[in-house]
Amino acid sequence: MSFKTDIEIAREAKKRPIQEIGAKLGIPEADLLPFGHDKAKVSAEFIAAQKDKPNGKLILVTAINPTPAGEGKTTTTVGLGDGLNSIGKKAAICIREASLGPCFGMKGGAAGGGYAQVVPMEEMNLHFTGDFHAITSAHNLLSAMIDNHIYWGNELEIDERRVTWKRVMDMNDRALRDTVTSLGGVANGFPRQTGFDITVASEVMAILCLATDLDDLQQRLGDIIVAYRRDRSPIYCRDIKADGAMTVLLQQAMQPNLVQTLENNPAFVHGGPFANIAHGCNSVVATTTALKLADYVVTEAGFGADLGAEKFMNIKCRKAGLAPDCVVLVATVRAMKMNGGVAKADLGAENVDAVKAGCANLGRHIENVKSFGVPVVVGINHFAGDTEAEVAAVKAYVESQESEAILCKHWADGSAGVQELATRVAEIADSGVSNFAPLYGDELSLMEKIETVAKRIYRADEVLADKKIRDQLRQWEEAGYAHLPVCMAKTQYSFSTDPNLRGAPVGHSLPIREVRLSAGAGFVVVVCGEIMTMPGLPRVPSAEAIMLNDAGQIEGLF
Ligand code: ADP
Ligand code: MG
Repeated sequence: MSFKTDIEIAREAKKRPIQEIGAKLGIPEADLLPFGHDKAKVSAEFIAAQKDKPNGKLILVTAINPTPAGEGKTTTTVGLGDGLNSIGKKAAICIREASLGPCFGMKGGAAGGGYAQVVPMEEMNLHFTGDFHAITSAHNLLSAMIDNHIYWGNELEIDERRVTWKRVMDMNDRALRDTVTSLGGVANGFPRQTGFDITVASEVMAILCLATDLDDLQQRLGDIIVAYRRDRSPIYCRDIKADGAMTVLLQQAMQPNLVQTLENNPAFVHGGPFANIAHGCNSVVATTTALKLADYVVTEAGFGADLGAEKFMNIKCRKAGLAPDCVVLVATVRAMKMNGGVAKADLGAENVDAVKAGCANLGRHIENVKSFGVPVVVGINHFAGDTEAEVAAVKAYVESQESEAILCKHWADGSAGVQELATRVAEIADSGVSNFAPLYGDELSLMEKIETVAKRIYRADEVLADKKIRDQLRQWEEAGYAHLPVCMAKTQYSFSTDPNLRGAPVGHSLPIREVRLSAGAGFVVVVCGEIMTMPGLPRVPSAEAIMLNDAGQIEGLF
């Protein structure tokens, strides 16, 4: 059997003008700021005017621990949104924007797949409406103003060895990880060692995604810690006087983008923070706006539920006052097999025993999601090679965990393949059984918060942290940051910090390598293991195969 590629399917989409999509949500034309015919930003004024309307139901799509077999969270988010609309519900989806780094590296696109995609997928995966360029510019303006402040006499007494604010670029470029700037003589400033992160790892990205409006955005930008003095006292972005101009650069980018699915249903695509050193989901503004305009909002969190859903609930929902009504946990037969010990090359052969063995990973995620008080349904994202016996094994396991699993074929069939899941999710969301609470209260110490996540979500026996790290956390608590949530940065492949430990490991420890304060975003990043904030390209980057064909269409983009 041969299948059309994602880009071939996307090219055949019968898109409607974006004004028609906006009208489905009651957005007047005057409040849509169009970028071409098929993309628009929604005006800040219109958004502000919706604030007293009731909220729709919030549905989070998350997944088991990712494997190279692919899980399909975005595909399922898009498919479920179309599925809800196809059974007569007013639904919108909210997903993240794409980064150019992975696009030219090796990851698939960010617009879903098969017959469950957001269009225009080419633009969404490239420049889109320019939000990431704006974030890059705002970040680098601050970088330039810091060096400029030092150049002109350093009145703030910045310790040049302790400038923590780097530069960013939206590209995978390992050559820029560690750099020396200001070489070349007196006129170019004071040489110092620094480096680049990828734009999606910028604290400005996390801030844009958590800010509720432009005032809140500027406040948070001002709160960023950019450097320290010799006496270790912090220097804030506000001290450099960059917060105003950064807000100006981000004014357009703060307005969420509206596009459509292949089935012409509304899709908000806005923001895209890293899911390790940041919280990994689309902007608060997009989600809260969608909740005012639709009866059901389907959204996605990055990586597996141990990272993505945990942060969605403990960081985003806590800060934005949101409460999910239902969680869809995406699982695939292939990923169950890999969790059960099958190598990627052998995924084609039926192996019910391996599926059963791998289900332990799924079971733990089900339990974890329930521990937030939110009901969960497993969506089995069907791949063409899955056998009936394998699917039945997953269903039987989930039932043994007192949950339910529903087979979904949205990748192959669009909304028609996901109506059973849509019906069930709407029922659960409407039932009001969700009784959401974050896993820990603001009042716990930072270390207690880390231990709560480590023990209750990862099921680690203990947290390992040396004196330096414990002292640092205590110092931040004394400086007024004790109430912040923690943002865990660890491998996405395992509940533990060892990426090779699949399934549902027990008896492991969580070693903390480093802690970082994102004072503007409002969380303490807890780095557990090797975390890359400037990725490199693979030996054969996908960029080599991306080009324009004779008709001027983009080829090779997934
Ligand atoms: P995630 O959001 O979990 O990273 P995506 O939804 O982006 O995953 O899907 C990753 C890739 O897998 C996409 O290229 C998509 O087309 C493909 N994919 C998803 N579901 C299926 C499926 N059921 N059959 C075949 N390919 C799929
Ligand atoms: Mg995704």
